[in-house]
Amino acid sequence: MRNADLRNELCNYARKIASSGLVVGPGGNLSARTGDWMYLSPSGFAVEEIEASQWVEIEISTGAITDNGLRPSSEVLLHLYAYRVNPLIEAIVHTHPSSCIAFTLVETELPVMFPDQAALVGRTAYVPYVLPTTEQLAVAVAGKAGEASSILLGNHGLVTTGRNLREAYYRTQIVDESCKVYLSAHAVSSEPSVLDEAQVAEIASLESEEYRIKLLQQMK
Ligand SMILES: [Zn+2]
Repeated sequence: MRNADLRNELCNYARKIASSGLVVGPGGNLSARTGDWMYLSPSGFAVEEIEASQWVEIEISTGAITDNGLRPSSEVLLHLYAYRVNPLIEAIVHTHPSSCIAFTLVETELPVMFPDQAALVGRTAYVPYVLPTTEQLAVAVAGKAGEASSILLGNHGLVTTGRNLREAYYRTQIVDESCKVYLSAHAVSSEPSVLDEAQVAEIASLESEEYRIKLLQQMK
C-alpha cells in the first residue's frame, strides 16, 4: 500500500469530520495529494468508516484510477479539477454542515466577522446551486479554487482547501462557525456588525498571527 502515512492521516481527519457533525451519514468527501497522486474517499461509505487501504488512488494529470475494488467519490471531478487549477492545494474537504447550507438559503457572501476567521480563512467564495456530482459543479468550484480557500456551495454545502489536511479541516470548522455566528446575529439584527477590509488586513499583518498560521501549516 503506497503512502500509508497519508492514508492514515485521511482516516484520522475523516473521523474528526464525522464526530464534529460536519457531515451526516454517507455525505461529504475528502482527499489529499502527494505529487501527482490524490487519495480520495470511496463512494458509498460514511467517511469515518473508511479504512486506510480503501482510499482511492488517482493520478491527477490523467485521472487514471488505481483499482482497489472501490469506486471513487462521485465528486471526483471536483477534487481533480481543484488540484489541477491550484498547485498550492494539498488537501480538500467537502462537507454538508447544516449551518453552511442554511446560510446559502438566505445569503451568498459570507462577511468576515471575527479574528480567527480573518486570519485562517479570509474571504469565502460562493458558487450558486449546481447539480451535485456534475462536471458543471467541478468547473464552477475550480473557477474559485485559485482565489479562495473556502467555497460555499448554494443549497449544498462547503469546500475548503489547504496546504495540508489540518489546514483544510480547520477552515471547514471556522466557516461552519462563521455561518452559525452570522445566522444567530442576523436573527436579531438585519445588519450585523462585521469587520471591514482594513480591520481584516490589520489582523493578517499581526506577527503573532503569522507565527500561529505557520505553526498550523507545519504540524500534522
Ligand atoms: Zn456534496
